[in-house]
Amino acid sequence: MKIQKSVLKVVFIRRINLKSILLILLIVIFPACKSRFKGKSDEELRQMAQKICDNNIILDSHIDWPEWIIDSPEDISGRTTKGDFDLVRAKKGGLNAALSVAYINSVYGVDKGRIMIDSMLNLVRYYAKNYPDKFALALNPADVRKNFDKKLFSLIPCLENGSPISDNPGYLKFLKDQGIAYITLCHNKTNQISDSNFDQDRKWYGLSPLGSEVIKEMNRLGIMIDISHSTDSTVFQALRLSKAPVIATHSSCRYFTPGFERNLPDTLIKAIAKKNGVIMVNFGSFFLDSICMKNWIYLYDKWQDSTKIDLSSKEGIDFTHEYGKTHKLYSDSKQVVNHIDHIVKLVGIDYVGIGSDYDGIENAQPSDLLDVSSYPVIVFELLKRGYSEKDIKKILSGNFLRVWNDVLKIADSMN
Ligand SMILES: [Zn+2]
Repeated sequence: MKIQKSVLKVVFIRRINLKSILLILLIVIFPACKSRFKGKSDEELRQMAQKICDNNIILDSHIDWPEWIIDSPEDISGRTTKGDFDLVRAKKGGLNAALSVAYINSVYGVDKGRIMIDSMLNLVRYYAKNYPDKFALALNPADVRKNFDKKLFSLIPCLENGSPISDNPGYLKFLKDQGIAYITLCHNKTNQISDSNFDQDRKWYGLSPLGSEVIKEMNRLGIMIDISHSTDSTVFQALRLSKAPVIATHSSCRYFTPGFERNLPDTLIKAIAKKNGVIMVNFGSFFLDSICMKNWIYLYDKWQDSTKIDLSSKEGIDFTHEYGKTHKLYSDSKQVVNHIDHIVKLVGIDYVGIGSDYDGIENAQPSDLLDVSSYPVIVFELLKRGYSEKDIKKILSGNFLRVWNDVLKIADSMN
């Protein structure tokens, strides 16, 4: 008993000492972080940001350029006139790896979905094949690093919406053989795999029985599971079932947009991090700011539906422009970094990255992040807030590549 008491005392004293030491360290280190770049002018920080972007891998986990280019063909190896992505602007922004999305609209049937997958993957391969001095496919993190060393832009195929899998998990092997790195389980409609957070029809209360099979097969094949667009229940179930980390390729924090289920609540951010996954922050203004969200919902759900005028038509763009004079529609880089900060404060630096959703967020880009030339603006804001270069590299690509590596390693161990 005596011994136990004295042991407790020692532990207590040690705790006090440890606590005091931690406190002193915090007092010393925290202001040091805040003032890491104290004395540097904005101009100097902007130059630092550009240098970081020019010299490191920047990977964006969700760019919808293939669908955009199929709809409105232009050559992405040069400067395009429309859209958010091309090689010229990517180079300016330091972007050198893009998850190139084969997006499958929820209204497509299985056949049309599969035809669209083939078309978009062919388009991605076309650039790797015909511009070998500019682009290359990347099928794993080592390829991304190798391409970066050779100054080649990494095109990484992925699939948004698992509906073309139909009732056949065997189709996943075909997708893996096509180089698909991740599959977003569903899009804006509940499908045969899982419930969608944009759909009131929650017929599976999360994953369907087929969805559970799909998760297991994706683990076995080393395809990353993307839960952006899935309901909260789906995400919890996927996390429970998956042997590998799970990712959100283009979702932000619900903390800033209460009620917007397309963003992740703190509980899920913590659960994804606990499973060693990653949350890639979406740049869409309505993902970042609740007032922007409310105003875009008006434009889409009320104005577009009642007038039957497409918001992306000239008339729609003109109306959006007028409406935007009196209503906040556009977020900015500071708000993107608020979301990054929020995730870092919740779970640490190792679980956050960039999934802009360029070419998929219509005209709702933040005012100072209009296209893929904009990554230095985010890095500037991170530097201003005291992020170290080491941590910025994790956000720009390190975290995503770590998770991708883990997913492939787990698949190897299962086969
Ligand atoms: Zn999406």
